[in-house]
Amino acid sequence: YYEQIQQTERLKTTGQLAAAVAHEIRNPLTVVGGFLQLFEQDKRFSEDQKRHCTLMIDELKTAEQVISQFLTMAKPEKEKVTETVDVKVVLQSVTDLLYSYGLIHDKSIELKVNGDCMISANTIEFKQLLINLIKNAIEASEIGDIVQVTAESEKDFVVIKVIDHGRGMSKEEVATLGTPFYSLKSKGTGLGMMICFSIVEKYKGTIDFQSSMGQGTTVMVRFPSI
Ligand code: ADP
Ligand code: MG
Repeated sequence: YYEQIQQTERLKTTGQLAAAVAHEIRNPLTVVGGFLQLFEQDKRFSEDQKRHCTLMIDELKTAEQVISQFLTMAKPEKEKVTETVDVKVVLQSVTDLLYSYGLIHDKSIELKVNGDCMISANTIEFKQLLINLIKNAIEASEIGDIVQVTAESEKDFVVIKVIDHGRGMSKEEVATLGTPFYSLKSKGTGLGMMICFSIVEKYKGTIDFQSSMGQGTTVMVRFPSI
């Protein structure tokens, strides 16, 4: 237990340092990415060279993701006000946001919200949590699959479920979730779940996984309702 606390503390300092570094790295990355996008469409380049540009742009996107994830973690607490969050409104905007992401991969998102679902949280953090969970569900899914997202009020809790019928996880994989940089994806950051865990913990919620290999995964998040 003591070691766990120490690790959390270490992560906090790492996060703050990373935030400063990330800000400085982000701008040059944006400039490089912008020029690469121009090259990608430039008729003077060969098809091979344009393909290399696409590869470089993809790698830059990964770097940008790592930076964004770190920045969410490291934002000062005073900037993260706790507000009344209408889960339905946030879920609608997050599924809209991820709609095209799913579409590119021929996967769709289905949203069902039952009744009033109000919680107390910071909207941006809550959004970040949902984006990470739904993105993972889409990425785990097969082409043509539907990711189901549901929310309902249950006694003193709002229960949100993200259900996919994708690759699933073994018990060991589920147990490893939340470990920084743990990722089985070639372009993963392995930071998403760590951020989800810390956001859920911060607002006194719970997160549970039901998963079996080849069958899919259900992530259940519960937040105290207000
Ligand atoms: P990333 O998505 O960048 O890999 P995450 O922290 O979001 O990092 O997830 C860590 C790992 O957990 C993923 O690489 C994947 O192996 C596993 N995982 C998370 N969600 C799911 C899911 N819905 N189905 C299957 N595996 C998942
Ligand atoms: Mg992820």
